[in-house]
Amino acid sequence: MLIDAHSHLDRYENTVQSALGEITQHTIFTISNSMDLPSYKRNLKIGEMCELVLPTFGVHPWNAPEYVEHLEDLSTVIEQSPIIGEIGLDYHFVEDTSQYPAQQKVFEFFLSAAKEQGKIINVHTKGAEKKVLHLLNRYDIQRSIIHWYSGPLDVFHELVARGVYFTIGIEVLRAEHIKTIARELPANQLLTETDNPGGLEWLTGTPGMPAVIKDVIEALAKLRKTTTEDIMQTVQTNFLRLIQNDPWLSTPYARLDSEINKLK
Ligand SMILES: [Zn+2]
Repeated sequence: MLIDAHSHLDRYENTVQSALGEITQHTIFTISNSMDLPSYKRNLKIGEMCELVLPTFGVHPWNAPEYVEHLEDLSTVIEQSPIIGEIGLDYHFVEDTSQYPAQQKVFEFFLSAAKEQGKIINVHTKGAEKKVLHLLNRYDIQRSIIHWYSGPLDVFHELVARGVYFTIGIEVLRAEHIKTIARELPANQLLTETDNPGGLEWLTGTPGMPAVIKDVIEALAKLRKTTTEDIMQTVQTNFLRLIQNDPWLSTPYARLDSEINKLK
């Protein structure tokens, strides 16, 4: 089984059926992140269409100003979501520094819920890597997935030492800095992602389809001087370890349970 630990299936419009077709054909377990409430509603519907899709709720830093005054209203939805994501900070694409306090308030609200509920989080760190590290420490977050890390290497090594998992995505095919990160990441903290459909679109202008995860795996195999089978197996084992005994991913999520059993 392949693992796409960071994707946004709600953003496929009329191609969602063919995306789900590829997910089924290649058996790609997919975490479909939300960026706000409307995207979560759509992800929940998509999740009902395919048992390999796990919809998760979060408020993306880009949408923080819209939600910052109504955070308590999100509590029930957060509690229903088995994993929390996408959340985080963005000091790179968001240049308007007046939004940073809202980003931090929203992020901390989710971190506090994640801590209290013992949930895995899926995190965006662009340009704010050091601050994210600091907040993960402050909230004593035990299980996190850092998505598409492209920040400084010293912070990367601190995050590695903290035990976070990293999703390596399609930029590993293109950027030297990402290649370095992909090489230096300890094998037991490696996960894969597509950030579909926007990730590839941002890099090449063409929306990504789920099977691009295979290109990521091939690139990782070359960089880490091993086989694609080894990378697939490693990522699968890592993902299984990460979600092992997670109460939020058992009873009410029977479909995931069966997938976890297949992973074993
Ligand atoms: Zn994302």
